[in-house]
Amino acid sequence: MNIKEAVEILKEKGVRITPQRQALLKIFADNKSYTARQVAEFLRPIYPGFSYDTVYRNLKLFCQLGILGETMAPDGVARYSLNTGEHHHYFTCLRCGVKVALESCPMEESKIKLSKKIGSITYHRFELFGECKSCEEGKK
Ligand SMILES: [Zn+2]
Ligand SMILES: [Zn+2]
Repeated sequence: MNIKEAVEILKEKGVRITPQRQALLKIFADNKSYTARQVAEFLRPIYPGFSYDTVYRNLKLFCQLGILGETMAPDGVARYSLNTGEHHHYFTCLRCGVKVALESCPMEESKIKLSKKIGSITYHRFELFGECKSCEEGKK
């Protein structure tokens, strides 16, 4: 996903491409992830009327369209970045707090089956919590 593709999606979906929305998209051109608050701060000097709520709503809209992806950081704050199609799911140990990314997405295989049943899935997220191997072994 790049900015040009993102604009194409907006056109296709009939979403109005305002200068504000374009400016918002451009922030993500460096392929880094930002929180809604950071995005709002970048935009404030250029578009003082672009409030945090509007920024937030647009970020959510872009996620729904598959332009942006949302990841939840350990601090509980959502970060947004251009949807590269690649994503990770994490296992968090409730005991020591270690966080490991799963090598593959367990959702990929069931997605096709589910899509047939419930409708097309744009994106998904889930997180796993439990006790990691070393904590488990430490208890023995
Ligand atoms: Zn652990
Ligand atoms: Zn997945």
